[in-house]
This record gives sequence, structure tokens and C-alpha cells, in this order.
Amino acid sequence: MTRREFEEHFGTEEQCQKYLFNKKWADGFICPKCEQTECFNISSRNLYQCKLCNHQASVTAGTIMDKTRTPLTCWFLAIFLMINAKVKITTKYLKTILNQNGMGDRSYNTVWTIHHRIQTILKEKGTISTFDEFFESEGFRTWRSK
Ligand SMILES: [Zn+2]
Repeated sequence: MTRREFEEHFGTEEQCQKYLFNKKWADGFICPKCEQTECFNISSRNLYQCKLCNHQASVTAGTIMDKTRTPLTCWFLAIFLMINAKVKITTKYLKTILNQNGMGDRSYNTVWTIHHRIQTILKEKGTISTFDEFFESEGFRTWRSK
């Protein structure tokens, strides 16, 4: 995936959210509580609410992005940069690059957390070269259970 392709597919919160939705519910939404399949989207919080029992399911729950307050586009760009980096990217460098690419001046601690979590998954898996590999990895999906 080139940088241009990345921007086309993951340039907005909506696109990133939709991608996570499809990774979580490949066959469409299923309520984890009542197994009903219709839902509302509460896009501002990455949530999908069951139309029947009102249970709210998050597309980031349990993942490295669990309860994040950082925009998904920022996470996705960081993952893109780290997957494609030829040499290891430091937290400081990542912070600068994110800022230069319109992600705002994120605090060092925030970027450290993002960097650390992505790095952990890349290390666990050995080689990851695509988004699908990253987002389908055990480490991404079951982060909170560690
Ligand atoms: Zn339900």
C-alpha cells in the first residue's frame, strides 16, 4: 500500500471505523448480548448500539485501541508508518511525523503508548507487512486480556 492508497482508504474516521467494524463482524453486526443483527452507529464514540437490547459494542474493545481518545486516523497512520519503516522508528520521530501530517501535537505519553503497543505486536508476529495481517493478529484483537 502506497501513501496515496493509504490516504484514500484510511483518511477519515469513518473509513477507519468501517474497517474495524468489518474486521470484528465480517458477516455483519451481531449483538454480543442478544445476538440480534440490527444496530445504530454512534460514530463519535466508535460504538454500535443494538436496536433490540440497546447494548453498546465498541469496534475498539479489547484491542490496542481500547478506550482510546486519540482519533483512529492517527492510530492508523502510526501503524502504516511503523509497518513500512525500513529502520526502527522512535517515539520522538513518530511524534514529529504525526504532527507534520495533520494529527496535531500529541503528547509524548500518548505517542509513547501508541508506539509501544504497535511495536509489541510487530515484535510478537515477526513479520507484518499488510494492514490485514496487523489487524487480524492475536496481539491486536486481544490486547486487553494480557
Ligand atoms: Zn442486543
